[in-house]
Amino acid sequence: MLSGVNTRATGWTEVGPGCFARRYPSFDVTVGVVVGADGLLVVDTRGSLGEADELRADLVALSSAPVRWVVDTHWHFDHCFGNARFTEAAIYGHETVPEMLATEAEAVRASLAERSPEWAREMGELVVVPPSRTFSSVAVVDLGDRQVELVHPGRGHTAGDVAARVPDADVVYVGDLIEESGPPMYGEDSFPLEWPATLDLLTGLLTERTAVVPGHGAVVDRAFAQAQRIEVSNVAETVRHLAAEGVPVDKALDAGEWPYPRESLAHAVRRGYEHLGSTGAGRRSLPLLPP
Ligand SMILES: [Zn+2]
Repeated sequence: MLSGVNTRATGWTEVGPGCFARRYPSFDVTVGVVVGADGLLVVDTRGSLGEADELRADLVALSSAPVRWVVDTHWHFDHCFGNARFTEAAIYGHETVPEMLATEAEAVRASLAERSPEWAREMGELVVVPPSRTFSSVAVVDLGDRQVELVHPGRGHTAGDVAARVPDADVVYVGDLIEESGPPMYGEDSFPLEWPATLDLLTGLLTERTAVVPGHGAVVDRAFAQAQRIEVSNVAETVRHLAAEGVPVDKALDAGEWPYPRESLAHAVRRGYEHLGSTGAGRRSLPLLPP
């Protein structure tokens, strides 16, 4: 299975048989590779064409096999703006990803272009390529001698998070549903109230020995993922509690006890209140009768 693989290639960590991870300083993204008889499956393509070129060079150092499959763990730029360098591969992603890219990528590109002259040039050259193989809940990729299961365990970090599970190696690449290098990122497109149930399903796929590869940071294990599930659940419960107590949304951050620094939770609170409002807490109602 591993013929043609240079397991001593620097920078790559073998997290399970024929499964690799590599942590890049830029945005501290962790990329994955699964080696199969028919080629390589790459998990996430990084944030620009330049970063994807660097990844491709690092892949060549690891293996002479072609990249046949790519998995975008979610639509955020640091995970899929490198897709254009992998168009010979089948690019898998959740069915919500193409639309998120269509509606959001231009704004992200514009804000990244303001980072530096180098990023301005990178974003000028960028071609946003959405996944070519989308799915709603599960998909299986056959690498010839092994299979990789792709699972959308529910909404959380985004509407379309995907985990890539390699059953024969007990390795799971979880994208940003679990983060190691900082608190889980609650952005404008997150689903803070659904995230705990999503992690219930995800952690149910893990064993005591599973290598859990997060989208950012170092490889962790099931105990780490379960601990993060409890924290994410605390955030959701605190939002529900504050909303039920009638605490106004702009006072909620100060009023709550949180497992993470407050400044990382502004969107968690706002999105949580929004979602409660839209699911029957009385803020909005369906027009049952025509006016
Ligand atoms: Zn993300």
